[in-house]
Amino acid sequence: MGYSYLFNCRTCQYSQKLYEGWGFMVHDQTVNSVLDSTQFNLHYKTRKKIQELAQWHDELQIKTEYKIYRCHRCLQISDKLVVQVSEKGEVLHETQFKCANCNTRLKHTNIHRLKFAICPRCKSKRFEKSKELMLWN
Ligand SMILES: [Zn+2]
Ligand SMILES: [Zn+2]
Repeated sequence: MGYSYLFNCRTCQYSQKLYEGWGFMVHDQTVNSVLDSTQFNLHYKTRKKIQELAQWHDELQIKTEYKIYRCHRCLQISDKLVVQVSEKGEVLHETQFKCANCNTRLKHTNIHRLKFAICPRCKSKRFEKSKELMLWN
């Protein structure tokens, strides 16, 4: 289950759709099903990391989830597919992202508290959340 959010710029009318949650991915997959699957377009570094961890850990769980980030420096928002690798509840690896705009390391943002962001097109601060939709898959 996930959510889709629509952001609209009140200055230039640009709109952007973002996802958060399980969305269209299956979570709690086994290592081999994730590595073998063509459905997952894993970054080569993530793939390598999972293979390394799998050599030492027998009960790895892989969770994929869409998360929304707002860069704390340039205030632009984006959604990313986070891959989290854990064993017995302990997180061993989680994908880290950098802002595509200014290259700052991104931290997860609480979308419910997010009141505004910067419009990627006109850089106005009047880029606001206008719609929230719940999705099932
Ligand atoms: Zn940035
Ligand atoms: Zn704009």
